[in-house]
Amino acid sequence: MKTPIVVKIGGSTLGSHDTTIEDLVALQKEGKTLVVIHGGGDVITQWLSRQGIPTRFEKGLRVTDDETLKVVVAVLCGLVNKELVAAIQSLGGRAIGLSGVDGGLIEARMKDEKLGYVGEVVKINPEPIEAILRGGYIPVIAPLGFGVKGEKGEKLNVNADTAAGEIAAALGAERLIFLTDVPGILNSAGKSPPHLSADEASSLIGSGVISGGMIPKVEACLRALSTVPITQIVDGRESHALLKVMEGKGSGTTIVLAGRRE
Ligand code: ADP
Ligand code: MG
Repeated sequence: MKTPIVVKIGGSTLGSHDTTIEDLVALQKEGKTLVVIHGGGDVITQWLSRQGIPTRFEKGLRVTDDETLKVVVAVLCGLVNKELVAAIQSLGGRAIGLSGVDGGLIEARMKDEKLGYVGEVVKINPEPIEAILRGGYIPVIAPLGFGVKGEKGEKLNVNADTAAGEIAAALGAERLIFLTDVPGILNSAGKSPPHLSADEASSLIGSGVISGGMIPKVEACLRALSTVPITQIVDGRESHALLKVMEGKGSGTTIVLAGRRE
């Protein structure tokens, strides 16, 4: 089996009329092996407010009590996941949706009692992904964690960026691509350089230039660089962003190990 390309679709590009789904189907038809991980934060927040459940974040993580967890599972694994799978299938692609609970794909443990059912990844079991890939489908993964034995709560809310990084690392992916809503990693001058070394990226986190939702993406890239040669942050709002980046013509920022340039 060819080494996969792992693509994380951000909440901010989900549902907008972008070309990501078309690109995924085109790449699949070219014979590329693809794995998709999606977020869904904005849709979860909308549904929580419809249910009258208040949302609270601590350090960018959603405090997840019993009621919140039910909505997270329903919206992430139900609505958002099926919407993506249906969109891929309707364009002639082949996709199967699953969550990190299915097949024990994402093993997690509770991060901090105060955050409730928020999980940190303990281990990735890649077999369910490999089985789906062998069948010729794109696995479309909702980042729900499966609580390891003895843990309180068997379903845990896991950050999608972190899950993408761990999955890419476990698969030894060919590349890891984050599609998001900015031109790339913005430096202190507000510009997005085409390349950053891992050290440069770390120091941008240290100095606070990288903040909020960009932190888990960059950390996931740094984590994945142990086995993944190319990790990229790309503007998913651009037309055919994914195809362009695969052709080496895209914009965005690539994080590389020192001395390595694409
Ligand atoms: P996604 O839905 O793709 O996960 P997020 O909103 O979680 O999107 O993360 C992307 C956001 O990170 C950007 O919209 C931007 O506001 C923020 N961000 C913080 N620091 C930076 C930076 N240095 N470069 C680019 N984006 C940054
Ligand atoms: Mg985010």
